Amino acid sequence: MASLKQWVKKTVAKWVDPNKEERMVYLVGIMHEGLRTQKEAFSVSRAFQGLNYDEDDVAIAAERLYRAILTRGWEDERLTQQERKVARWVARSLEIPPARVSEINLEFAQQFFASALAEAMEDGVLDEDEEARLAEIAVSVGMSTAQFVNRFFLANGEGFLRGIFLAAVEDNHLSEEEWNHLLTTAEKLGLARDRVLAAISPQAQQFVEHVLADAKSDGRLSKQEEDTFAWLFSKLQLPAGFKQYVEGELHLLRTLTAIDEGRLPQVGCPSGVAIRAGEIVHLHEHATWRQLRMLTSGPRQDDHQGTITLTDNRLIFSSQTKSHSVNYRKIVTYRGGQDWFEVQTEGKPVSTFFFPDKSPVRYPIFETALGRANQMIVAKIRGSGPSRHIPRDVRQRVWQRYGGRCAECQATDYLEFDHIIPVAKGGSNSDNNVQMLCRRCNLKKSDLI
Ligand SMILES: [Zn+2]
Repeated sequence: MASLKQWVKKTVAKWVDPNKEERMVYLVGIMHEGLRTQKEAFSVSRAFQGLNYDEDDVAIAAERLYRAILTRGWEDERLTQQERKVARWVARSLEIPPARVSEINLEFAQQFFASALAEAMEDGVLDEDEEARLAEIAVSVGMSTAQFVNRFFLANGEGFLRGIFLAAVEDNHLSEEEWNHLLTTAEKLGLARDRVLAAISPQAQQFVEHVLADAKSDGRLSKQEEDTFAWLFSKLQLPAGFKQYVEGELHLLRTLTAIDEGRLPQVGCPSGVAIRAGEIVHLHEHATWRQLRMLTSGPRQDDHQGTITLTDNRLIFSSQTKSHSVNYRKIVTYRGGQDWFEVQTEGKPVSTFFFPDKSPVRYPIFETALGRANQMIVAKIRGSGPSRHIPRDVRQRVWQRYGGRCAECQATDYLEFDHIIPVAKGGSNSDNNVQMLCRRCNLKKSDLI
């Protein structure tokens, strides 16, 4: 209660004491003059002995003067040995408690250390001069660089390390050299590798997510990209769950790449489906066939529940009620998405197949199997239509614009570069037609378009 009362008294005094500032200036003036004229003989208690001054006021004024002297000392961004000596003497004469003096000294040193460090790291390199400069600042408060850095890092270090890391990956590329450099710098500053890795973990994850979205943008995983991920996994300390998620995404991308290159998965021969000798099965799944028939009374639509089997030369639909197979060579038009596709053969109505879930690999398998059965068709499909390829610089800007988050739900995982207006509908690969979407939102969107 007493301290609360005191606090109220002080605080209220601050508001209602119009002369306080004047008094401060006066007290600081007396002390400054005393130090100047009496030198070693000056002391605060002697100077104000018998005079009726508020003790708090005197203490505040003394600190203000000490700060003024330090500010002057640090003017050239360093505190020389001579200046330190003067500062010590002033602090003693002003009778500022030693603990408080240390605090103030550190506050100043920290401020200059931070700016020296920022300046030194501007080019990303900590050279010898810069190292010496940091050591000098640390010495001004009686510490080694490592000690000071550790203290500094307790308060600001993580942000600083993240800053260096982010600067290194700004171009969405982390070279071995940049990485080694980051570690060497941290080491010079006396920071353990574990600490560095822990500090930058969130940024490292974001970076990997960016590299992943980039890798996905062409739907393929190149050898170079494989190597990049292996290297990043070996260097960055990524949480197990995150690593697992990235591995899953890479696996999917690898599968898509293989399909794209014509290496289709092979599954065992499904029971109940009549497969010819030597026929290879690439996919076997539950599906619904929507049969469209032109009757004299008009078109009629029937849904049949069954399975779809894709072999190396046929699409086979099997069900209790209706079964049929379509030779790939007979197909004249086809299209599809993650949970449906439709085919049409010469002179027949369109057959549509629906699947109970979405899969990013199902339709590519169908498309590739179809293409392999008829090289002419493949050439025609691949060679026609506008490119979906989003240039690297566009991807880079789009990623920055969305801050590595999904435009719809702000998620930071499963990110994909998405054409706002699909390329097939005339959308371009330019900045204003590309956005970041997570796969969940992207799937929802494709339902609407
Ligand atoms: Zn989303």
